[in-house]
Amino acid sequence: MHAVGIVAAAGSGLRLGAARPKALVPLAGRPLVCWSVDALRAGGVAGVVVAVPAADRAAFAEVLGRDVVLVAGGGTRTASVRAGLAAVGDDADAVLVHDAARPLTPPDLVARVLGALAAGAPAVVPVLPVVDTTVLVDDDGAVVDAIARASLRRVQTPQGFAHAVLTAAYTALPDGQELTDDAAVVRAAGVPVSTVAGDERAAKITVAHDLALAELLVRR
Ligand code: C5P
Repeated sequence: MHAVGIVAAAGSGLRLGAARPKALVPLAGRPLVCWSVDALRAGGVAGVVVAVPAADRAAFAEVLGRDVVLVAGGGTRTASVRAGLAAVGDDADAVLVHDAARPLTPPDLVARVLGALAAGAPAVVPVLPVVDTTVLVDDDGAVVDAIARASLRRVQTPQGFAHAVLTAAYTALPDGQELTDDAAVVRAAGVPVSTVAGDERAAKITVAHDLALAELLVRR
């Protein structure tokens, strides 16, 4: 199976309080995007396409090897992945879409996603259980209901897809429509999505605390 990775790295990093795109923020001295590209490769992905902020292309080219393909991302994650998908060659059987903001994703998580695709799944996402009690609140923040957490899952990346399935789903999705992940795009096209076990180390770096935790994990 020939698998190509798309790394969504065109976010701003506002919530991290960084003066540069989040994917360029260093973790143990290396930009987050470098860690995420390496994680995909270590797990068995052949080629990698990285969607970057158009204005920062040169900075990304400087830190990433010449063996990745850079494309200009869009104003939303959905638009960035759409741009990345357009640069994936026809010879790819599978596409793994990954957040640059998940630098410590272990290779065996990537391998599990690839394994599910090789076994015939059209779409697969890594998930973790929800351990906290989870509630629904109204506009004032008052608890309306508790949700049975046993059947809830937190969804991570990389998310894997048969290439043709992902391409058809993005083609069917109206331009400008924004969904929070790629599994939602294929589900909107009626494709069943299966799950494999996620990993806490694949946590997304969103706020400064997440980066501090990742620094601790790297040092350990
Ligand atoms: O903002 P958030 O952390 O949820 O973004 C998830 C991933 O999507 C990040 O790696 C970010 O760089 C990427 N993204 C993107 N294009 C955007 C917005 C976010 O590639 N316009």
